This record gives sequence, structure tokens and C-alpha cells, in this order.
Amino acid sequence: MKYKNKTSCVHSGELKDLEYKGAVSPLYMSTSYAFDKVDYNRYPRYFNTPNQTALAQKISDLENGEKGLIFSSGMAAISSSLFSNLKLGNHVIFQNDLYGGTRNFIKKQFPKYGIEFSFSEGLEPSDFERELKSNTVGIYIETPSNPLFKIIDLKKLSQFAKDNKCWTIVDNTFASPINQNPINFGIDMVVHSATKYLGGHSDISAGAVVSNNFFIDKIYDHAKNFGGNLSEFSTWLLERSIKTVFLRVEAQNKNAMDLAKFLEKNEFITSVYYPGLESHPDYLIARKQMHGGFGGMLSFEVNKNINISKFLKSLRLIKPSTSLGGVESTLVIPKKTSHALLSDNERLNQGISDNLIRLSVGIEDPKDILLDLQNSFNTASNES
Ligand SMILES: *Cc1c(COP(=O)(O)O)cnc(C)c1O
Repeated sequence: MKYKNKTSCVHSGELKDLEYKGAVSPLYMSTSYAFDKVDYNRYPRYFNTPNQTALAQKISDLENGEKGLIFSSGMAAISSSLFSNLKLGNHVIFQNDLYGGTRNFIKKQFPKYGIEFSFSEGLEPSDFERELKSNTVGIYIETPSNPLFKIIDLKKLSQFAKDNKCWTIVDNTFASPINQNPINFGIDMVVHSATKYLGGHSDISAGAVVSNNFFIDKIYDHAKNFGGNLSEFSTWLLERSIKTVFLRVEAQNKNAMDLAKFLEKNEFITSVYYPGLESHPDYLIARKQMHGGFGGMLSFEVNKNINISKFLKSLRLIKPSTSLGGVESTLVIPKKTSHALLSDNERLNQGISDNLIRLSVGIEDPKDILLDLQNSFNTASNES
């Protein structure tokens, strides 16, 4: 039975404790299972232990897919999904502003295997069309993108890909399945860094891919060679975390919207990037395809009067730390963290200025987050 998303968060894929009737899924740490009971052996690297199967079902239900696979990191899910759909001589088109780790993976690994790639500067199908070659087999994007939250129209892109016989992958980490389900718009595969919103407490490294049976079987065939399965304990912990992802993301959506509106009016801020603001160039597309809210991530540029290192030191509540999607508010300077591996030119080309700050909004009281920002702006301002 297919439940509504809130119910799926709590109950999808739960394992029944038939012996003791405990309320939560039992944790099976076993790496060895009877070989006469199943047609293929249960084994962690075969992605088919009881806890792995249960969690894959939950994430697949949340993304409206047929099947899912859980990995030890977002990059394990991303690299396995890409490599299992590619071979020597193939070409893939990527969106230009891509998560740094994914970009690094492509640039380092693809040339060794004779796989070609291009980056599309623009977000429209016509921009992707310019990069199309006779050997193009797939398109890979992120929406909202990092760190400026550009939005790609999923329906238009998936139609363009189908017309050109390409598969599509969307990294849905920033939106989370609570705000956006790319499969509903015809996208083939959805990948996640579950280290972020799905885990939500900054204490689990994990990844996932959700798709139909055809693509998941294909990815599975490669994944059991590559490894990259998630440990049983982390699998169990992630199942527990996902029970509250709806509540967390709902609170983060609301807090981020409040903060974006506050920052838009702030004297120290020159621009705010949040897809839920009507001033955002892609607001109408975001409203069309993001159903829950606009996410808990936003960026802003501070004006020249703000001394950034002084600002970072003045923060009392918000943690200047990498990663995102946790219950606690954190922020990074993309130039120094997520986009540090890019050249100055590549970075400026993507519109990432030196005084851009990316905020991952937590579930704290928004008044406290706001006050922390305002106090730190005041302290870090040259005029103070
Ligand atoms: C963090 C992140 C990844 C990589 O995930 P890991 O769990 O760190 O391997 C991929 N895509 C996006 C958008 C991310 O934020």
C-alpha cells in the first residue's frame, strides 16, 4: 500500500519484529546468511540485507520510484550511477554549476576511461542542445544548484532528453524528497547525498539512488563490483532519521523563507539567492516543480563594509562549518570551501563572488538565527 509522504517517512519499509513485537525495525548486524533460503545469498555488498532492503524501500517510496539502492556516501551513489550507464566513447552533458565533488570526479576519472563530457552554461534545453553530440547518452543536473540556487525546468529537460534518447540523472540533495520528486517530471534517476537532509543530524555519511527497475538493476550489477554499501548500523540509523525528515524540512523551509525576507531588506546585504523569493529569476519554475517548499539553503552577498573573518568569529549560534542539511544552522564561504578547487576564473564565471555566504538553515527559532546574523553584521561592520 502506497502511503502519503508523511506516513511513508515513518512507516515505509519498516521491518517487523515478529519475535518480541518491538515498535522499531530490529538491527541485523549479520554479514552471513543461510544460503539455502534465498535464490541469491544475502550479503552486505549485495545490497540485500534486511536493513538495507528496508531502507531502500523507504527512500524509493519517498521519491516515487520503483526501487532504490543505499550507498556509503553520496559520491558512491553518484559514481556508481554514472559509471554503470557509461562506457568507452560515450559523452555526457553536465550542468555547469555542479557540486564540487561531482565535478572533481568527472574531471579526474572520465578521461582515464575514454568517457567524454561537456558542461552546459545555460539551463534551458536549447543550451543543452548546443552541447549535444552524436555519442551523447546522458544528461546530469542539480536543481536547485549550489550555491546560487538556479532552477532547471525538470519537465522541459526530461522531454528534451527523451527526444534525444538520453537518460537523465538529477541530484536532489538540496531539495530533499520532501520538496521535489524529479521522477514525477519524467526524470530517470534521482541521486542523494543522504549525509545532508535525509540524515539531518550531521552524523551519518550515506547516499542513495532511486529509479525504475531497469536502471536500478543496471546500477546494482555494477555496484556489487564497486562495493560502496552502507554499514548496517548506519543503515538502521538513517532509517530512524528519515522518520522526522518531513518535520525537519518543513521547519527549515519556513525558517529559510523568513531569513531570506529579512536579509533582502538588510543594509549590509547586496543580494540574496533563494528560489522562494519572488525576486529570484527562477521563482516561477521553482513554484511549479517544488511542492513542499523551497528548501533550507540560501546564499547572500555582504557589502564591502563587512569584514568576513570578523563576521565568522562573531557568530555565536550559527556554526561556520562545512556540509549542510543538519538540524543546526551552519554556513560556509563557497570560495574557501565547496568551490575552493575551482580556479578564480571558473568561480567568477559561475557568479560566485568572494563575499558570498551560503547558509544551511537549521530548525532553531528563526528569531535566534536572525539575531545572531544581525549582531555579527554589526560587529563586523567597518562603520561600527
Ligand atoms: C554533499 C553532496 C554530495 C556528495 O555527498 P557525500 O555524501 O559527501 O559523498 C553530492 N551532491 C550534493 C549536492 C552534495 O551536497
